[in-house]
Amino acid sequence: MKILLHACCGPCASAALPVLAGKGDEVAMFYSNSNIDTEEEFERRLESARRLAAADGVEIVADVYDHADWLEKVAKGFENEPEKGARCRRCWEYSLRRTAEYAASRGFDAFSTSLTTSPHKPSPAVFEAGEKAGAGRFLAVDFKKNGGFLVSTRRSAELALYRQKYCGCEFSRRALRGGRDGG
Ligand code: SF4
Repeated sequence: MKILLHACCGPCASAALPVLAGKGDEVAMFYSNSNIDTEEEFERRLESARRLAAADGVEIVADVYDHADWLEKVAKGFENEPEKGARCRRCWEYSLRRTAEYAASRGFDAFSTSLTTSPHKPSPAVFEAGEKAGAGRFLAVDFKKNGGFLVSTRRSAELALYRQKYCGCEFSRRALRGGRDGG
């Protein structure tokens, strides 16, 4: 199968790529993350994702960065939601919808997401967002299973990938001040 992997960041994708490659799938990465609060941070995470793609010999495509659109369509009215709440579910669906559209336009059989690598992202809720976004083309894989998060920390150290301290949007920076760590 030809699969488009939505890459939320290099570290999470570093655990997802070997799982998909191990199943014999042909994989490309799609970096779509308009949820990130600044372009500087978007580029910093993209650079890490590109480094991973080069190491694993995988093609990577970067989506446009449009945080204003994300604020309007995802966050408006949901600014005070806690992490893992309604804003986050809308956020995952937003990026996965863009991934699904790109996958369909380029002849991919399915798409998936590295979001499930993170212990901060409940996989069943991410799957729900993927299914809403993907009209039957979403491949639900729980990349945190079988020590996936440990794989991501090991590979991130080996490849010197940048590991962010907050999820992405400005609202998750508030949570960082409250002690939250990681994407
Ligand atoms: S906390 Fe993370 S998942 Fe939730 S809305 Fe912000 S960027 Fe998206």
